[in-house]
Amino acid sequence: MNRIITGIVGVLFCLCQATGQEACYTSNYLQNIWQGSPEAARQAEAVKLFVDRQIAARQADLSWRGDGTAVITVPVVVHILYNTPNQNISDDRIYSQLKVLNDAFRRMAADTVNTPDRFKDRAADAEIEFRLATSDPNRRATTGIIHQYTPISLWEPDDKMKYSAQMGADAWDTDSYLNIWVCPLRRQLGYASFPGGDPVLDGIVLNTAVVGVTGKGDYNQGKTAVHEAGHWLGLRHIWGDDYCGDDGVDDTPQQANFTNGCPTGVRVSCGNSKDGGDMYMNYMDITTDPCTNLFTEGQKQRMRALFDPGGARYALLRSGALNPPLYQEIPVAEDAPTWLHPQLYPNPATAGVTLDLAYDPRWVGATLVVTNLQGVVVKKAVISNKIQVLDIRTLKPGLYLLNARRADGVSLKFKLVKI
Ligand SMILES: [Zn+2]
Repeated sequence: MNRIITGIVGVLFCLCQATGQEACYTSNYLQNIWQGSPEAARQAEAVKLFVDRQIAARQADLSWRGDGTAVITVPVVVHILYNTPNQNISDDRIYSQLKVLNDAFRRMAADTVNTPDRFKDRAADAEIEFRLATSDPNRRATTGIIHQYTPISLWEPDDKMKYSAQMGADAWDTDSYLNIWVCPLRRQLGYASFPGGDPVLDGIVLNTAVVGVTGKGDYNQGKTAVHEAGHWLGLRHIWGDDYCGDDGVDDTPQQANFTNGCPTGVRVSCGNSKDGGDMYMNYMDITTDPCTNLFTEGQKQRMRALFDPGGARYALLRSGALNPPLYQEIPVAEDAPTWLHPQLYPNPATAGVTLDLAYDPRWVGATLVVTNLQGVVVKKAVISNKIQVLDIRTLKPGLYLLNARRADGVSLKFKLVKI
């Protein structure tokens, strides 16, 4: 087991030092998990051995002619966590991301022509597709894209975005959905969990800046998601996360290290010249988006073996996420998480009440209206603070209603008892 762990430890610092930015945080993320939990490390190793066994069995079976033409379809839910409006990226960006994923995994992208001749015979259509869910876990209609406001404007790669209680969004059943969290990460482009890990944490986290086709920067074509989906399907980095390491894939050349930028020509390391040199255009290197254009047949086999009976992704084949919904309303509003619920206290009150708008600054500027039971407005105040104190000493004892409506149409209503 500890080959994985020691290998990953070896590469941690070079990634950060060489790039100043962490293109992919997955190695560090997995190292933290596996070092903190021997059980998690054992589980990851068990998944790897399962895949090894499935592939060995196929190679030993002379009658095996590939796993058929059945395309595996992975249902996807995307949780867009936004604080500022520009972090709330459009559904079109997500659609462009899904297209990039599918073009890459089906080897349909226009840039596959850039795969060098020496590697073309190893390039594979992985026959895996990704599709936005049509049913949520309660069989309600969904677009598969959730736009979730949060008070957090910048995230660390510490999984907090995967918890509603931490002002992120809880995963949808990870046996039925690939969960993709889109949020602004401080330094990283993305990271992914490995198959066989904690279900609550299972999925991919992408920096908002690199989601979909943006045309901005080096990671501008949505390939970060392709790379992270490779990890989510159990693929290691092409250099094996160690100097001349082993990625567990037979047809990827051994390679000394990750590759920065977008080189051209043959680059030889670890004596791999007979094998074609470094495969820096593989999606599992960290070259820039315009540079990457293939998964190999060996990578395809490892990813697809996870969907065999007993495999860590097998359950996804029985997901109901792509079935027609039982409840057709589109879109059904998501329930706001409890930390976003405004609170009013004390109630009953004598002199003043506090309207606690918690973490939600969107209420500031809205007008708070107090009416009596006859519907007569007895007090008005513009909300100027997330903790708004309202003086009610002038009100007669009795029952009142507090209302406010935000610019975006969301309203709140409280019954207030003055004593
Ligand atoms: Zn990676």
